[in-house]
Amino acid sequence: MEIPVSKDARKWQRIARDYADEYLQPHEVEAELNEGALPAEITARNKRRAIELGFTAIDVPKSHGGLELAMESQVAIWEQLGRVTNALSWCFPEAQSWMFEACTEEQLQKYILPMMRGEKKDCYAITEAGPGSDVSGLEATAVRDGDDYVLNGEKWYVTSGNLSTFMWFQANLTDEDDEALFLVDSDTAGIEIIANPKFSHTYASHHPTYLFKDVRVPVAQRVGQPGDGMAFTHSWFRHERLMIGARSCGAMARLIEDTMAFANERIIDGAPLSQKQAIQFMLADCATELYAARLMTYDAARASDDGADLKTQHSRCSMVKLYVSEAANRVADRAVQIFGGRGYMRENVAERFFRELRVDRIWEGTSEIQRLIIARSLLKRGLDGM
Ligand SMILES: Cc1cc2nc3c(=O)[nH]c(=O)nc-3n(C[C@H](O)[C@H](O)[C@H](O)COP(=O)(O)OP(=O)(O)OC[C@H]3O[C@@H](n4cnc5c(N)ncnc54)[C@H](O)[C@@H]3O)c2cc1C
Repeated sequence: MEIPVSKDARKWQRIARDYADEYLQPHEVEAELNEGALPAEITARNKRRAIELGFTAIDVPKSHGGLELAMESQVAIWEQLGRVTNALSWCFPEAQSWMFEACTEEQLQKYILPMMRGEKKDCYAITEAGPGSDVSGLEATAVRDGDDYVLNGEKWYVTSGNLSTFMWFQANLTDEDDEALFLVDSDTAGIEIIANPKFSHTYASHHPTYLFKDVRVPVAQRVGQPGDGMAFTHSWFRHERLMIGARSCGAMARLIEDTMAFANERIIDGAPLSQKQAIQFMLADCATELYAARLMTYDAARASDDGADLKTQHSRCSMVKLYVSEAANRVADRAVQIFGGRGYMRENVAERFFRELRVDRIWEGTSEIQRLIIARSLLKRGLDGM
């Protein structure tokens, strides 16, 4: 199912697909049966190859040695990496373009450019025990004390906390009536893991709960300027919501292809299962939803490349995240059904995606929160403003 994309996006699509097929996909079942982990040499090899291909630099400005790819090409890459389960594509760190707007030269040199070289890895400590959907209600604090800030708070679900070297920590600035992000080295005194829950998926990246108790960071670790508030967190949300759309498109394509191959081979009543109309209807719904999902995701990426108004981009990224993540869950559910009992085995791609895609309706803002964002934008600015 081809949809029109630029020559550059097509090129990156091919590169990412080859990488996913050769380096990642063959290790899915091994990861699934080993708590998500692969042998260290395989993970290192996969990371090395991703860096060679330039994946860590796709969103880095050329002025800092990056590839500065169009968002359309970035979506093309993440769509192909989304075909693989167990988050095996998270083997390399990502330096993102908003970081170059947010960070000082010193912060870029210390944290962001080392990510581009694969030397450091980040994680995001935003959500707390209180309603995570209400990011304006966070309770963590940053108190200025001389040349330092003192950070306190409890952070939940810090994805890749076990593999990261530093964190983005969101806190209230007690003396400014505002919020800010801080760059915090993971080994700073006062940071403690107080829980490491198991989740539905089987990933090497864990999501621990952290307690920050009187964690001191130099003032130079504060990100952005007074008044920036949540602006950069919103930049990150937009990027991630779009890429959830991209990865979900890849997952849907893989599920449809693998399910169709099974339905063509599986003989029931003396004929391939794919000849049953009930199965054909499910496959037809899957393909239709993938078509819509791809069109939306690539269109939103191109709107970003064309410099669309930021509010328009924000609501479109929410629409992509809402529609595509929900569609991908429907596709995974149908895939399990078509595979029958085999679809309930952990060695089956449909079973793994059925669990893994569920969280895309929750993290980076739940489906309900995306609907609130879309509805607010619609009511304020009308259809023409979206
Ligand atoms: C595996 C995993 C990894 C994660 N990784 C990270 C991470 O790396 N960094 C990070 O900071 N966070 C992370 N999160 C947190 C994630 O972003 C939150 O779980 C999510 O934002 C929802 O917050 P909550 O869990 O507190 O649910 P709640 O906010 O308590 O929501 C519970 C339910 O209420 C609904 N709801 C809430 N408000 C409204 C409303 N106004 N109207 C209607 N319905 C509403 C929600 O949609 C949901 O259905 C992760 C979560 C998971 C599960």
